[in-house]
Amino acid sequence: MSLLNDSVMWEAVETCDSNYDGLFLYAVKTTKIFCRPSCKSRPPLRKNTIFFSVSAKAVKEGFRPCKRCRPDLIDAPNDSLVVVELAKELIEARYSSSFTLDELAKEVGMSKFHLQRLFKEITDLSPQKYQTRARMLRSVHLIENTSDSITDIAHVIGYKSSAYFSEVFYRYYGCTPTEFRKRRDNQ
Ligand SMILES: [Zn+2]
Repeated sequence: MSLLNDSVMWEAVETCDSNYDGLFLYAVKTTKIFCRPSCKSRPPLRKNTIFFSVSAKAVKEGFRPCKRCRPDLIDAPNDSLVVVELAKELIEARYSSSFTLDELAKEVGMSKFHLQRLFKEITDLSPQKYQTRARMLRSVHLIENTSDSITDIAHVIGYKSSAYFSEVFYRYYGCTPTEFRKRRDNQ
């Protein structure tokens, strides 16, 4: 099996390839129904097809499970959600240390490609960006509630360089950590 991308998934849909059942689902915009790849119902047009990793997400976007292939029963959406929740917890617990996607995937027991895709679909962020967000939230808390220096805060949240921390912080909040603290002090 190859890496899941749109053309691989589309081919699996066209050929009703059951090897892909459980790995993704496809939904049809015109009928508002979603199916597993092996479903024997008439294949939709490519332009009307969208792909999902978990049925919970398809349902959330207004699609109904097909009565013929019952994608809601085999997709194990809860397991997928549990895996993503676990990955989020692991990242949050160790937000200050670096990790690779490989390591994270091993810990949650899923291939890294599937994890990356699922994580992104559910959180809208990659695991790496999710970690950056956890670091930023923590840094705001420290800037607001402690008098620790910006350099110390950078180190606590896992950045070796406070210049780099400031750069990332600026991208997130539109000001530097120092400016952010000054604003707090002026309030
Ligand atoms: Zn179906």
